[in-house]
Amino acid sequence: MQGVNGVHHITAIAGPAQENLDFYAGVLGMRLVKRSVNQDDPTTYHLFYADAEGHPGSDLTFFPWAQMAPPRPGYGLAMEVGLEVPQGSLDFWGQRLQRYGTRPGPVQTRFGQQLLAFSDPHGLNVALVEAPAGRPFTPWDGSPVPHAQQVRGLHGAQIWERDASATRQFLTTVLGFEELGAEGGWTRFGVPGAAGVVDVRDAPEARRGAWGVGSVHHLAWRVDNEAHQARVRARVESAGAQATPMIDRFWFKSVYFKEPGGVLFELATDGPGFAVDEDAAHLGETLVLPPWLEAHRGSIAQALPPLNLPVENLPGVQP
Ligand code: ZN
Repeated sequence: MQGVNGVHHITAIAGPAQENLDFYAGVLGMRLVKRSVNQDDPTTYHLFYADAEGHPGSDLTFFPWAQMAPPRPGYGLAMEVGLEVPQGSLDFWGQRLQRYGTRPGPVQTRFGQQLLAFSDPHGLNVALVEAPAGRPFTPWDGSPVPHAQQVRGLHGAQIWERDASATRQFLTTVLGFEELGAEGGWTRFGVPGAAGVVDVRDAPEARRGAWGVGSVHHLAWRVDNEAHQARVRARVESAGAQATPMIDRFWFKSVYFKEPGGVLFELATDGPGFAVDEDAAHLGETLVLPPWLEAHRGSIAQALPPLNLPVENLPGVQP
């Protein structure tokens, strides 16, 4: 059985777009690799932050739905996003976050890895997790963060479940994850040789979680191509989950479904990638629309708030 190839991207819900951009590109120093719109709601941006080349697995994306209420923490929801940073960089990150007004907790250790956990300006729980180099990563010369400390990509996510056993069965027998360890009520799953873990805990004491500003929207897992995607999709359906047809997201092809506990998952192809419609040197600088929305560019652009790349907005950061 060929399972998924680790994490592809994670999408979350943010408040005002400019504040989101200021934090992820300005403070965390990730590259805005695509400035587009939510294809199902083109009045809302879809902002993609990644490494310089937008490698699959490096990509944290946001729908800025500032009018939404805060989320209800609970089961059936991903509750934290992990971003991978270089070994020994947490001192740098602790100081940098504090300088720009974010207060991380003390350094913690999970599954042998050191991390700093904090809430982003809109309440999303984020952990910066130290890991040895090894994944494909291209540093971003335009980042306010030096190469040696830059975010390398997604580490994974934490999810809460009402009954984690059904999710465990689904992850291992349908998606090809392996159980990597258990610690403090959490079980870690991952795909050997691929970046991206999911930590699962039973949270029967909680209520059902609900999306809101500052929550994760979905977790996307990598597949090689459409044929691989179709094979995994067939297994998802055989396991009783309802999967969408393949949807062309232009930069990748997507299939969505809920895992047994209710967390929204996606299968996303590696290609064609973010450079399919923009010069790789200028990713994210202008509004990019999929071809079927180009005819409406004028009205779409008018409805969106202006966005300024954040280096100019941060005190003490030289462009
Ligand atoms: Zn997605």
